[in-house]
Amino acid sequence: MNAQILDGRFSAEKIREGVKKSTSKFFEKTHQRPLLSALLVGTHPPSMTYVRMKRRACEEVGMDFRLIELPEHIKTKELLGEIDSLNQDERVSGILLQHPVPKQIDEREAFDRISVSKDVDGVSSLTFGRMSLGMPSFHSCTPEGMIRLLKLYQIPIEGKHAVILGRSPILGRPLSMLLLGENATVTVCHSRSLDLPHHLNQADIVAAACGIPKLVKGEWLKEGAVVLDAGYSQGNVGDVDFESCSKKASWITPVPGGVGPMTIAILLENTLQAACSSLPR
Ligand code: NAP
Repeated sequence: MNAQILDGRFSAEKIREGVKKSTSKFFEKTHQRPLLSALLVGTHPPSMTYVRMKRRACEEVGMDFRLIELPEHIKTKELLGEIDSLNQDERVSGILLQHPVPKQIDEREAFDRISVSKDVDGVSSLTFGRMSLGMPSFHSCTPEGMIRLLKLYQIPIEGKHAVILGRSPILGRPLSMLLLGENATVTVCHSRSLDLPHHLNQADIVAAACGIPKLVKGEWLKEGAVVLDAGYSQGNVGDVDFESCSKKASWITPVPGGVGPMTIAILLENTLQAACSSLPR
């Protein structure tokens, strides 16, 4: 079987067009633009690139973007103070703390300080809990982007067996909850899981999110599996061995141009939603 491509660039562009139109309407109504504020601690080069990409994406759809750059050695308490100011600033629609932060920072405490109404990246414990229970909340951007990709290509999720590689709080874990919410049967594998090939061979949907280049091999897959690759390592390499997997899968995301563009599109959508929800009723 030669897999068809789940085109994240095309799908993200559709979402961004919708966000751009709605942002323009928001501006006509309020004479304000939704504002995403990003906190960047230190000068981690990939993080600086991600933040630049997010700025460009905001500007392209007509949103404002504010970057707060903080020194590498900042303490958790000082970072919490910055988050408090953004929580209180009525002009700020959404807050994004760029991951990862330097080691001395308690990232969980910082994520949890972001007000739920501005948590457009879906990182706080409260947002996670609400999302997991199917309550109204922002969904973590990358997992939601992966679900949306399946839906845009009308790939059934209900009743399917989804196997996820990775259980991180920003990716594997929230993805497992969203897939469960879509009535998939979900298996979550991690670094201590035994016999990955055995688990992957049961999967109708494979979601690789572990950051190990080309870990998933075609011979591990069930014929016709749908393969989502969220991994991204240096040199534009995903967690899936595209060459062998695309021979066995029915659908597959490329790297780059698969899951990555969807993440930013969902971030924009969430920021717009946060801005709309903040308007007086
Ligand atoms: P992370 O925090 O390092 O988590 C990695 C997860 O993979 C952990 O749960 C780990 O298990 C698990 N793992 C490690 N080795 C494994 C193995 N051999 N088999 C199965 N699971 C294994 O990473 P992350 O932040 O979730 O990111 C994962 C990947 O996604 C990275 O390549 C990152 O660049 C990419 N990413 C992409 C986007 C995007 O927009 N496309 C966004 C975010 C991240 P333990 O829990 O047992 O340690």
